[in-house]
Amino acid sequence: MTAEDVKALARETGFDLCGIAPAESFPELKFLDDWLERGYGGEMRYLSRTARRRSDVRQVVSSARSVISLGTVYNTDRPYSTEVNDPDAALISRYAWGEDYHEVVGRRTEALLERLRAAVDEPFDARCYVDTGPVQERVHAQHAGLGWIGKNTCLIHPEKGSWLFLSEIITSLPLEPDAPQLDQCGTCTLCIEACPTDAIREPWVLDATRCLSYLTIEIRGAMPEAQRPAVGTRVYGCDICQEVCPYNASPARSDDPAWQPTTDLDQARLSDLWRRSDENLAALLERSAMSRAKLTGLRRNVAVALGNGATLAAAAAIAEPESPDTPSRSEPMVAEHVDWARRRLAARTTHSGDDTGDDKAD
Ligand code: SF4
Ligand code: SF4
Repeated sequence: MTAEDVKALARETGFDLCGIAPAESFPELKFLDDWLERGYGGEMRYLSRTARRRSDVRQVVSSARSVISLGTVYNTDRPYSTEVNDPDAALISRYAWGEDYHEVVGRRTEALLERLRAAVDEPFDARCYVDTGPVQERVHAQHAGLGWIGKNTCLIHPEKGSWLFLSEIITSLPLEPDAPQLDQCGTCTLCIEACPTDAIREPWVLDATRCLSYLTIEIRGAMPEAQRPAVGTRVYGCDICQEVCPYNASPARSDDPAWQPTTDLDQARLSDLWRRSDENLAALLERSAMSRAKLTGLRRNVAVALGNGATLAAAAAIAEPESPDTPSRSEPMVAEHVDWARRRLAARTTHSGDDTGDDKAD
């Protein structure tokens, strides 16, 4: 089995990119400790728990010789969030619009491994990961030649852009490695300038505790009040630092049905999301990559977004009496955000004296 054979099988299995990195402890893998020491990981304690394993894939598969790094384009034909000028639009990271990539890419990565096992006579060790394993997959992807890690910390392919799901097979197979991709950010700083919360503290260094993706996805309890206004109408994740990247000006698009926006999430409305029953929202989360936020996390985010969107539709939705099929709205953590949103809406409406019927409340 040669590296070229692996890449041919990866293409046949549906991957857009495939490269091979040696299973080594690259210097970049060591930055994680320093980053965690600075407190930039916030509540993501699983990162500290797995830091040692993340420093070398041989801690995960002791016989590892190669990392087969795989890329899947998920970008679809929809406007960027920075082009959406509608305060009732529920902004959701584009990676979460379709099916849950953990499931779909996971199945495809396992399918590729099955094909490798069928093609190689001798038994070999291998383990597949999609995002959730103790693996710093962007570092391995860069060393496998799939792209470079941009100043926004995303992996960027020079032609396809950065809307990529990454997965990998860590294996004992000795495969010819690819040359690492070189940095092509140059003097550009667009992502750093565009970040609404200054979360990119310096090139390649992201303070997750300031990042809107962290605030809307990773934290389980209350969102710090001072940070709520910056969330705007984002209810799951943030794509701004990728949207402004010149390498995403005309990126690759996928026509894979798995990544097309589902009816539920295609240009979703905040007021509509808010009115959905818990049962309906739970089912929606179950099918998508948004399940990480949990039902109460999503309710919390929608409440904050309604307060920030400040439309009359938002004010009407959040003023409605509680209904028996939306008990999550009364969870103490969520209820506190609902109160915050109501106060914010009331203050903005009072301030503007807006009772004109204009759709924007301030
Ligand atoms: S995802 Fe959004 S908040 Fe986070 S670093 Fe990028 S632009 Fe900033
Ligand atoms: S916006 Fe510029 S600096 Fe940021 S990742 Fe893209 S090319 Fe690099």
